[in-house]
Amino acid sequence: MLLYVLPGTFASREDDLYLLWDAGATGIEERAGALRAYFEFQAELPLDGVWTEEPDADWQADWKKGLRPVTAGGFTIAPSWLAAEVPAGQTPLLIDPGMAFGTGHHETTRLATTAISGRDLSGLSVIDVGSGSGILALAAALRGAAEVLGLDIDPVTLPAAIENAKLNGLSARPGTPATFSTPGGTLTFAVGSLDPDDSDEPEYDLLIANLYAELHDLLAGAYRTVLRPGSEVILTGILQERLPLVRAALDREGFTGVRETLDGEWVLVTANSER
Ligand code: SAM
Repeated sequence: MLLYVLPGTFASREDDLYLLWDAGATGIEERAGALRAYFEFQAELPLDGVWTEEPDADWQADWKKGLRPVTAGGFTIAPSWLAAEVPAGQTPLLIDPGMAFGTGHHETTRLATTAISGRDLSGLSVIDVGSGSGILALAAALRGAAEVLGLDIDPVTLPAAIENAKLNGLSARPGTPATFSTPGGTLTFAVGSLDPDDSDEPEYDLLIANLYAELHDLLAGAYRTVLRPGSEVILTGILQERLPLVRAALDREGFTGVRETLDGEWVLVTANSER
């Protein structure tokens, strides 16, 4: 296994994380002040890290051993081999680490999963923009949403999200491998994004997005367009220092009732679209 070691942390290297995933990283961890990105092949990277080799078996075994279940409100997020460790009374959210971001070990995923856990989504239509491993879309489906769409621009996330839906006991509908029957209705994963210029009819009651501040700014108009009046956004992936950009974007698009929750240097923002 090839390893690319880059000095810094998830927070200080937020923008570089996307470069690493885009270049084909299959996993990224933070250890002792450095980011360690694992690759199947050596990629061109315009960064100041160094390439090194690490034996496959050791890395896989160490990484798996180090993973622990994570509590996020009423959900306990765990890899499938630790399902038995989910405490009684908690809803299991089983996510196996793989090619897609979202195992619950990052603050932003945890913040968003906790926010979803505190809401009864029965009968609601939900969109998760940047669904990655599918974790937030799955959480919304488990909270009773009638219709959930998990959308990600990166095609490698689709098989991961489909696998994770199956891990959580969901069955694909006949002939539609990415659409699942859920307790409240359906969950669909698709490759794509929101179009800032799209002016289709609003169709969602809740939009969830764990992206980053600049992208929230770019997509805020599209968030407004796809949401029914008075609907909610749950946005995260926002570093505290970039929060003003998101506040301004929400204000510009007529969102009100902005509330913020902090975890370390990360922020989750909720707000409502105009009535
Ligand atoms: N939702 C998961 C979570 O909360 O852990 C994954 C979030 S991860 C930080 C961001 C995801 O957004 C990545 O899977 C990336 O491919 C996707 N993404 C980036 N830009 C996007 C865009 N413009 N539209 C849709 N997805 C995008």
